Amino acid sequence: MTPPPPLVDIGLNLAHDSFDHDRDEVVAHALAAGVCHMVITGSTLDSSQRAIELVRTRPDVFRATAGVHPHHAAELRAEDLPRLRALLMAPEVGAAGECGLDYFRNFSSHADQERAFHWQLQLAVELGKPVFLHQRDAHDAFMAILREHRPRLTAGVAHCFTGDAGELHDYLDLGLMVGITGWICDERRGQHLRELVRQVPLDRLLVETDAPYLLPRDLQPRPSHRRNEPKFLPHITRVIAACRDEPYADVAAATTASALEFFGFAVPA
Ligand SMILES: [Zn+2]
Repeated sequence: MTPPPPLVDIGLNLAHDSFDHDRDEVVAHALAAGVCHMVITGSTLDSSQRAIELVRTRPDVFRATAGVHPHHAAELRAEDLPRLRALLMAPEVGAAGECGLDYFRNFSSHADQERAFHWQLQLAVELGKPVFLHQRDAHDAFMAILREHRPRLTAGVAHCFTGDAGELHDYLDLGLMVGITGWICDERRGQHLRELVRQVPLDRLLVETDAPYLLPRDLQPRPSHRRNEPKFLPHITRVIAACRDEPYADVAAATTASALEFFGFAVPA
């Protein structure tokens, strides 16, 4: 039997406590499904630290991001920036983030979110790291801040893209990569994404689960629990390939090559 083509899950919240009882098993199942590399998302200073520690357990498989999610922006104070800079300088860290703006939930004030976003983009520029970006219901403010820093940023990915055509083309015009999750498997709210994903050039596309969140709604048989896992990435990638009328192997090969380069994994000889 030929092994499944390798994939990279660029957004996995493996430090989340829902994985505490069976994290090794979750990783083993993902590897068996062909998910050969995983990028562990940091969303607070502490979870970024945990993500780095997890990378150290399997440096051949994992990379981390280090950053503060807009939900937690109010917790990031100026005196925390040296710690964040130190986390970002760790060799295990492939990107700064996740960072950005989320005006849908507004768990932090807009002012706190915008300040934290500026700080993190500045650190990414200073350290030459790409950025892992989150945006929800805040497109205009997000673009204004991002445009200011973009000329000095090496690269960025709009993670978990769920926006409209205007947002997509703004991101593509800024030279960003676009991360697609199992949101596209949702027959109700993911419908527009099935059309839009065709407009993402293949070399700008990345795939992710955002596990334990965003369990694909069309899995057969349906899992008995709501927790998403990285082993479902091939399913998401298959849906993306079908929407784009492209062979699965082509989408797998292109997204894997892009992800390995973006997050600074050692490229296999
Ligand atoms: Zn996010």
